[in-house]
Amino acid sequence: MSDNEKTTREIRIDPIVPTSSVLVATARGMRPRKEEAPAPRDTRKHVDTCPFCRGNEDKTPPTIASYPEEKQWDIRVVANLYPVLGENGSQDNMNFGLQQTIEGYGRHEVIIDHPSHGIAIHEMSTEHLAMIFKCYQDRMRELYTSDERLKYILAFKNFGPAAGASIPHTHSQIIAMPVVPENLFNELENSHQYFEKHHKCVFCSLIDEALTYEATIYDRESGEVRRKINVGQYVIEKNEHFVAIKPFASRYEWEIHILPLEHQADYLLTNEEKLQSFAEVLKNSMARLDQVIGGAQYNYFLHSIPHSKEFNNCSKSYHWHLEICPRTSIPSGFELGSGLFVNTISPEDAAEKLRSVDLSDIL
Ligand SMILES: [Zn+2]
Ligand SMILES: [Zn+2]
Ligand SMILES: [Zn+2]
Repeated sequence: MSDNEKTTREIRIDPIVPTSSVLVATARGMRPRKEEAPAPRDTRKHVDTCPFCRGNEDKTPPTIASYPEEKQWDIRVVANLYPVLGENGSQDNMNFGLQQTIEGYGRHEVIIDHPSHGIAIHEMSTEHLAMIFKCYQDRMRELYTSDERLKYILAFKNFGPAAGASIPHTHSQIIAMPVVPENLFNELENSHQYFEKHHKCVFCSLIDEALTYEATIYDRESGEVRRKINVGQYVIEKNEHFVAIKPFASRYEWEIHILPLEHQADYLLTNEEKLQSFAEVLKNSMARLDQVIGGAQYNYFLHSIPHSKEFNNCSKSYHWHLEICPRTSIPSGFELGSGLFVNTISPEDAAEKLRSVDLSDIL
């Protein structure tokens, strides 16, 4: 970055969860941590010793579901060999003073996303991607109906060692849990409050704002232009049904959120045509990321309204989305201790870089 380039140093308030803010500090000296070079990606197609490669089905727990059903699998679902939440919890809930526990009951499944060992998301066909996201829906639906103690089912993916993937073969995971996780709970609560006040979904408002092209902020006293905001600058990809946005208050430098353009709280209500459209936006967004940061290692996770009675009143205020968080560095003590993430690339610049990738060169 040249010296005459404008530096930013501001705390941005997350519009969905205002208590979660981020410090955008772009000058080199303000960076609290060093950027890590991504570990080389395992791009092999088949690995004989890999339990997730075709032909090694006996090295994993039995198949729970496979896609397509009738032929050789393209996607395979198995139980996690080392579940973080187990099926047969025998321990009772415990309440003693400040020590309160809920039985670690739940389900943990692995979705082997593709037969090709080291394939990246943007290298998969949109049909295949749509099938992966259909598979998440099927598993979520089945798990929600299997046990009413399951309050939330989280579908997520860790890709690359920096993102905590322990097995290099491309896979995602489903964890069904007896509690609603804090991140999601905060989003549900805050968006509900926003709805009570403004009679509008905050996510829909966010999309509207991102799609409005320009805004000018005037100084109240002098009437002079204080700041020109090109709000369209946060949009990275868009098609008929979905939009990929670089959030204004991104915790991670290259974070991207994908949301349906039309209001929808429940991911399970997205039909196959829409999933196809979602897959296009995802594939293009991931191709842009991969090009800009060179071999993206990331976590993505799906946030959707829980199937639990206590959240029935959130269907107008909540809006499902996929959050993609590429890992380019390890959080510092300051970030962990304060909860204030430091983003060293301004989201506007990051969005601009992502948008300017010429996809015709790579797809
Ligand atoms: Zn493999
Ligand atoms: Zn909405
Ligand atoms: Zn979310």
